[in-house]
Amino acid sequence: MPEINQQVGVDLGLLDVVILSTGEKVGNPRFFRKDEKRLAKAQKRLSKKQKGSKNRDKARVKVARIHAKIADRRQDFLHKLTTRLIRENQVISLESLQVKNMIQNHPLAKSIADVGWGELVRQLEYKATWYGRTVVKIDKFYPSSKRCYDCGHIMPKMSLHIRKWTCPECGETHDRDINAAQNILAAGLAVLACGEAVRPGRKPSSRHGKLQRSRKAN
Ligand SMILES: [Zn+2]
Repeated sequence: MPEINQQVGVDLGLLDVVILSTGEKVGNPRFFRKDEKRLAKAQKRLSKKQKGSKNRDKARVKVARIHAKIADRRQDFLHKLTTRLIRENQVISLESLQVKNMIQNHPLAKSIADVGWGELVRQLEYKATWYGRTVVKIDKFYPSSKRCYDCGHIMPKMSLHIRKWTCPECGETHDRDINAAQNILAAGLAVLACGEAVRPGRKPSSRHGKLQRSRKAN
């Protein structure tokens, strides 16, 4: 694709799937939650059928079908989103989250799993290679949520339920996720300027390699 002068910061949300530094929020995990309820029902029905019975076979096929549908829906959603992000932006900046750790420890683990962050990053990376775009992953310890995008002030604490906050330093009021996405973009561009970016075609560092492997193991 021809080069364009557009960059975007992408943050993983809990209420919304993905938050862009432009202020746009895309998708909603509840969309996937519906399918999961249907799946749970079908599984319960299956468990009540007698072993070796025809009804059990039928119930098993039904469970398999719902599984496949969920996977299809998520893949489809992610492909549309990543293709669009790649088409519209020359640089895409995101956090390299350790999804596995988050899923184990996070009270909102379910939403994170629904979103498929690892798959989203994977798609962005290979599409960036295809179309000559750059994906920058910033350090997972960067305080993207706690930092005021306007003045750089870093809040000592920011609990998960806070969706909007006002910076005590400059008085600016922030949407938690949009502010984070803006910080992610700024940090990504800074990384690029220093020449440390993970560019398409370049061999990832061993640290990144490790991260990727641990993701695949999930
Ligand atoms: Zn501020």
